[in-house]
Parts: sequence; structure tokens; C-alpha cells
Amino acid sequence: MSTGSAAVFRASDPRCAETWDCPVERVRHVDARRAEALAKLGIRTVGDLLSHYPFRYLDLSALKPIRDVPFGAEATVVGTVADIRVKEPRPRLSITEIAVADETAVVVGVWFNQPYMAQRFVVGDRVAMAGTMVLDYGLRQMKNPFVERLGSDGGPVLLGRILPVYRTTDGLSTAWLRRIIESAVADFGCVPDPLPAGLRARRGLPPLRWALRAIHLPRSIDEVGSARRRLAYQEHFDVQLLVAARKHARAAASQAVSHVVDGPRVTALSREIPFPLTDDQQRAVREILADMAAPRPMSRMLLGDVGSGKTAVAAFALAAAADSGGQAAMMAPTEVLAEQYVRSIGPWLSKAGVRWALLTGSTPRSERSDTLARAASRQVDVLFGTHALIQRDVEFARLTLVVVDEQHRFGVEQRLGLRAKGAGVMPDLLVMTATPIPRSLALTLYGDLDASYLRVRPGARGPGHVVTRIVPRAGRAEAYERLRQAVREGRQAYVVCALVDESDSAEARAATREAHRLQTAVFPDLRVGLLTGRMRPAEKRDVMRRFVAGEIDVLVSTTVIEVGVDVPNATVMIVENGERYGLAQLHQLRGRIGRGEHPGEFLVFADPKTEEGRERMRAIAETSDGFALAEADLRLRGEGDITGVRQSGLPPFRLASFTGQEDLLLAAREDAAAILESDPSLALPAHAPLSERLRAMQAEATAVDSG
Ligand code: ADP
Ligand code: MG
Repeated sequence: MSTGSAAVFRASDPRCAETWDCPVERVRHVDARRAEALAKLGIRTVGDLLSHYPFRYLDLSALKPIRDVPFGAEATVVGTVADIRVKEPRPRLSITEIAVADETAVVVGVWFNQPYMAQRFVVGDRVAMAGTMVLDYGLRQMKNPFVERLGSDGGPVLLGRILPVYRTTDGLSTAWLRRIIESAVADFGCVPDPLPAGLRARRGLPPLRWALRAIHLPRSIDEVGSARRRLAYQEHFDVQLLVAARKHARAAASQAVSHVVDGPRVTALSREIPFPLTDDQQRAVREILADMAAPRPMSRMLLGDVGSGKTAVAAFALAAAADSGGQAAMMAPTEVLAEQYVRSIGPWLSKAGVRWALLTGSTPRSERSDTLARAASRQVDVLFGTHALIQRDVEFARLTLVVVDEQHRFGVEQRLGLRAKGAGVMPDLLVMTATPIPRSLALTLYGDLDASYLRVRPGARGPGHVVTRIVPRAGRAEAYERLRQAVREGRQAYVVCALVDESDSAEARAATREAHRLQTAVFPDLRVGLLTGRMRPAEKRDVMRRFVAGEIDVLVSTTVIEVGVDVPNATVMIVENGERYGLAQLHQLRGRIGRGEHPGEFLVFADPKTEEGRERMRAIAETSDGFALAEADLRLRGEGDITGVRQSGLPPFRLASFTGQEDLLLAAREDAAAILESDPSLALPAHAPLSERLRAMQAEATAVDSG
């Protein structure tokens, strides 16, 4: 193995002309068995291998005697294993301790529930250990450090180097993975740089080949920082280029409709709506109507908390479609929500001369065929509905506008399916969401959409209007008492007892049991109702009707009420198992109460077992700003499980992040847009590698979209 500082790029090597796509077996030392182990890590091509970045380094270039490492500092120390112990202070907890000594002091590596660590080493092994030095009970410790035996690799040769540490798998040792990646860097690391030189110079970004070498074989820890920044930028840039290219492609599609946006129905609607629009609503209406008037297809997202008035804004778009001789479809993820639209804006639309109908899974057959006939002959202007709108036999005479609510609940196909009903025209698209998406995610996942924000809720009564309390087990009785008090004062309440992540039927059973328990054991004097996703639509409607009419005091429900339900008289909500929810979900639930003049109380029964869970509970109790909560959620949960990212067909983030890199993200977005603006088909010679890369990414993204 050559040393890091000696890694050379042989630009003249013919292999360098190949793309990253060639199979990983081309790399020296990779035989069939190792290729199989690499495949387990998701590595199949040379490119995959080169982007398998180290997650940490063993810095043997700047070793310090153990005694000289300051507390709180990250460090690598070298010494001899002096003692190995596994303790089991209580069931299901094991603590492994490995003491490493040099001539100056001893430091103990500590691992929780990783008893196999004890098997990897024996007393007397010479090892390097990297971690953060802390002082605990008077002892030097490193918690969960990385340890590597130095003996077998020829020990002293490694001293002085900075060794990359990779995620690896059975059958492939860290040392071999290092060797393989080093070969790949030397033989294939000289890929053409997709970023034009001018851009790199302007942003102070080193060349790609330099970054690849520096991240895998750094000569100093400082190099790692520049390399990571360059590679993270590249990931943001790739996504933004893809997204900008989609936007360009859509803009080039010429079959979009230029809507009439100041016609009689739009004008009548503004007269019929019984309240003045908020400033945010007015701006959103302006932005949407301007898009609709333009001869390009609109792709806009309307973001705003529950109750911020999105539906009212959408009404204007619907009226403009009708004024233009077009039709609109407005799709909700649930029947409850679809019916809510009809109740809230249906009457205004009717008075403004817009003909509408509702189509859901529970529309009676005869009514359904009548509605379909009217849609096909343009006797209705607007169809509200659920997934039922996508069914094959739903035809529009002239669909020019599609509104999709809570679009993350729909698959790509469903969204595209509705837009495809445009038959010859590309309908304008308005996407609405009450899920506050952090800006970084919005710019990435939905980067090809323009955005309008409703930040202020109409008639907002200030953040103190709804009080949030986290209720420990002992506080249950008191919480029930507050609920009873509210009902005594004429208010109503929700009890949400969803089992997050469990099946609908398990959830429905739990809610049913809870409703029974509350009715018989806790609130025998109150009227308790039940609403679950499993109930028949007619039953659901009936329960909602009775709740709206005040015939039910306490509505026990699963998360079906999460979106859309609007009962201003409901002021108390109790949430069971609050620690199981994400912040966005809790915030959505909270949006259901305090919608009227009476102040609300949001009581979260929670018993968080983890620090993260406790922080989440603190955040919901302290913050009422949905966007701030979304950022907190992202930070706390980490990015592993961001829904939508994996299904999006966008290239994966390895070093890029949705948190803490807004500057890189915005720079990449601006640069990608500018390049496509100046050279839409990437035909300039300087853009050849970029064009190649974009084509490859597009092929990949299409495969995901349709797969
Ligand atoms: P969203 O769709 O964002 O959840 P809605 O459009 O359903 O919000 O509005 C929530 C409630 O507020 C509805 O009852 C609606 O009629 C009312 N509303 C909307 N805009 C205003 C406004 N500017 N002033 C007063 N009430 C409004
Ligand atoms: Mg709504």
C-alpha cells in the first residue's frame, strides 16, 4: 500500500477516459468475492466506490501522548490494550471497557450494548483509538471510540498517516477496503470535472479529482474540510440542475393555457367571500393568477398552516379556470377533507356562477355517472374529490387546472395521472400543503415548483391562544378534569389515540377500545363519539355531522382528523402516546383547536424515553411556528427518514445535508439556474461533462418515477 501523500493521478492512463459507470471489478484487488461484499454496501460501479466516503479518520500524523490530550478534544492515541471487561449492571445493558495505555497514561474506551467489541481485541494488542477525550469519575474515557489494531498491517508504516475509516461489511476488512479505494482513486479518480472552471474559481471550489483524492487520502485534516465542501456542493448542484432542467422542459412545453384571470366569476367571487383576504392571501392569489395568465404551465406550491386560508385562495384559481372556459380538478387525500372544501367554498363558488360537483369513492353510482357525463360535456367547471378523480373513466372536456392538496400523501403517479387528463393541454398545477416544509427541503424536493407562503393565519389570536402542555402519567386525571370543565362551559374536545406506524385496523381497534373506556369509566356523563379510518364513509359523515352539530362532546379518533376538520367550538385536544409523533404531525393536530374565539388547550400525554423524544416534546410545547418546528424536526430526527427524498428519484445525499448548508444549497441553485439560462441544452463544449451527467441523472430519475 502506498502512502496517501504519494497518491498519483495518471491522467494519461486510458482507464481514466471511462466514466464512473464501469463495474467495480475493474478496480485492482477487486475479485468476485470482494465484489460481492462491496455489493452488500450498495457499491456496484467505480463511481459508487469513489463516493463511498470515510465517516471518520484515524489521524496517526499528529499523535499525542495520552496524558497531553485535552479534555473535550477529538484525538487519536496509540497504545497497548491493558485490560478488557464486559459489565452487565442490569438486564439488557452491557458495558464494554477496553483500557489502552501508553507510557504516559491510560484511557478507557467505553461501548454500550456492543459486547462483541471485547472479542475483537486481546490484552497486549497495539491499537490506535480515536474519539473525544472526556473525564468521567476521575478516569480518562472515550465513549464509542473507533479502535483499530495496528499490528497486522505492519504497524509503524501506518504511523504518520491519516487513515480513512469506512463503513464496511462482513468479508471485507477495513484495511482491504482502504486498499481497494486507494487503487480506485489512483486509477479512476481523474474523472472529467462537471463544473466549468469559471464557476469553480468564482465559488472557490477545488477540482473534483483533487477533492476525491483529499477526502479518501488526506495529507492533512484541513484538506478534508475543503474536499467535503466541494463534494457536498456537487450533490446540491446535481439536484438543482436536475430540478432546473425539469422546470425548463415544462416551460418549453407550449400547449399550456393562458387563463383569463379578471373574468366575471373571479370578480363575483371576491364579492361573495364574506371577509377581507389577509395580505398573504392577496399576494398568493396575485402570484397564482399571474402564473395562470401566462402561456406557460403553472407549477406552484401554496404553503401554509392548517387554517391559514389556502382553500379560500384556491377558490380564485378555480374561478379563473371557469372564466377561461376550462375546467378544474381539486383532489384531497381524504373524503373528510374533500367534503370540507365543498362546505367551505362550494357556496361562494355557486353564487359566483361556478358549477361544481363532488366525486369520491362513496358517491352513489347513479350520481357518479351523471357527474361523469357532466364533466365530459363541460357542464361542470370544477370537480372536487379524492383519488376517485384519477380513475380511468373520469374524463374532462377541457381540464386546464389541477389543484392537489397534501400532495405528499399521493404518489407521483397519482399526481401525474390527474394532470394527464388534460388531453392535449398541460393543465396548470397548484399544490397545497399544510405540512410546513423547511426551506432547504422545499428547494430540493420541490425545487421545480414556485412557492407562495401563507404565514399568518386569518384572525390569528396570537401564539398564546392555544396552550400546549406535556402531561406525564401522573397528570392524566387532572387533564381529564380540564376536558370535563371545557365541556361544562359548552365546548367540545378531541381525544386522539392513533398508533403511529401500526396498521389501520390495529389503530381503529385501539381507538374503539379507548372510546369505550372513556365513555364507561371516565366520562359516563358526557357524550363520547368515535371516528376511525376504518369506518364506512356514511358512518364517518354521520359522526362528523353530529360533532359539528354539538351532539357529541368528546370525539375519540385516529389521525383521520389530522387534516381538514374545522369545528371552532372544539377547544381541548388530548393526544395519547404523544412521544410517538413527529413534530409536524403534532402541530397539525394542534391546528384543529382554538379555531374560534375561545382559547384552546393542547394536552399531550407523553412519556418520552429518549433525549430526542424529550426535546421533541419541549419543542412542541414552546413553539407555535410551524416552519420553526419543521426545522427542529429535521434537526432532531436526522435526515435518514425524510419521506419523499428516496422516492423522489433525486440523486442521494452523502455529504450534502438539509440542515446547516443553506449557503451551499443556494449557491448551487443559483449556479445551476444560471448555466441552464445561458445554455439551455448544455451544448457548449465547456458543458459537455455536465450534459453527460444530467442525462445519466435523468435516466435514473425516470426509472424511479415509473418504478
Ligand atoms: P386551510 O385550507 O389553509 O386549512 P381554509 O381556507 O380552510 O384554510 O380556512 C380556514 C378557515 O378560515 C375557514 O373557515 C375559512 O373560511 C376561514 N378564512 C379563510 N380566510 C380568511 C380570512 N382572510 N379572514 C377570515 N377567515 C378566513
Ligand atoms: Mg384546508
